[in-house]
Amino acid sequence: MKHLIDPMDLTKEETDEIISLAEDIIAHRERYQGSMSHRKLATLFYEPSTRTRLSFTSAMMELGGSVLGFSDAKNSSVSKGETVQDTVRVVGCFAEVIAMRHYIEGAQLYASEVSPVPIINAGDGSHSHPTQTLTDLLTIKRELGHIDGITIGFCGDLRFGRTVHSLIKALSRYKDVRVILIAPDSLKLPDYIKHDVCDKSGVQYREVETMEEVMPELDVLYMTRVQKERFLDEEEFDRVKDSFVLDARRMALGKKNMAVLHPLPRVNEILTEVDSDPRAAYFRQVENGKFVREALIVKLHEWKDDPAHPMPEHDRPVFDSSVRCTNPKCICNNEHAPHKFHYTDGGQLRCWYCDSKVR
Ligand SMILES: [Zn+2]
Repeated sequence: MKHLIDPMDLTKEETDEIISLAEDIIAHRERYQGSMSHRKLATLFYEPSTRTRLSFTSAMMELGGSVLGFSDAKNSSVSKGETVQDTVRVVGCFAEVIAMRHYIEGAQLYASEVSPVPIINAGDGSHSHPTQTLTDLLTIKRELGHIDGITIGFCGDLRFGRTVHSLIKALSRYKDVRVILIAPDSLKLPDYIKHDVCDKSGVQYREVETMEEVMPELDVLYMTRVQKERFLDEEEFDRVKDSFVLDARRMALGKKNMAVLHPLPRVNEILTEVDSDPRAAYFRQVENGKFVREALIVKLHEWKDDPAHPMPEHDRPVFDSSVRCTNPKCICNNEHAPHKFHYTDGGQLRCWYCDSKVR
């Protein structure tokens, strides 16, 4: 059975198949209106996220299916103390697909080990949000007509921004992608993404200080929020904050067919004066999110019993009683998930569920 816990659970071929199906759904919406009729999607949101839940709900409704579930664990009937494994065993009797959001890292991966139906990770803690990555890929494809060969600038918080890390990983499987990193010192892309992802896959990247110096080169500008609380010192925030704001003056330096993406919500990093520019793709990106979720639901349901679409072979879990995952937000420190680990290519021991470094 295929679950979508991490964007890299999908092969490049499966990813492209989902994107192609989403494009076909957009072109022929009427053909797909009954494709999930009499089927149900369960949305289990242990942490509220209205827009993500509405996107899943809207996607399932467009396919003719129904939706059940809860939007906040506090107001749900999920009894306190029930493990996510027991919950999905039960809910899997009522629904054909489960979309789960959880504040605990690794919760979906742990749940998927026993789930009788495909699980879609709709966001876990600060770890992963794979449907956003699929949305970003579909948006790039629709805006530019291709993903291979693009030059993409990431601007803002590249250190903590999980959408940026996931998208760079996904893009590393396409040909001749060039990445330009535009971030203040405190928010630079972590070294392990640069080395383990970019260097290994041959993605060219370079780091710059200002948007101005690279705007004319970009096919895509991916903006993210720069949050004050991410800075250790307020002075640095005040000094750099205006350098990472997109306005009409900076847009004027960009290519005619550049696309501006943003995972939303924004605060003030894109001024509203940019919204009327045809290159501002972030609201189209939201709609693409619904279409890509439709395609994902159809495909995961179709692949459920197909041995040609297994979960990827992760390296074998390592059980070592001398170490423990120390991440307080990890599933193994919140439910009785086993402390198990895996070795990275670089020989590091990392938690199986949350991927934090243990040794
Ligand atoms: Zn962990």
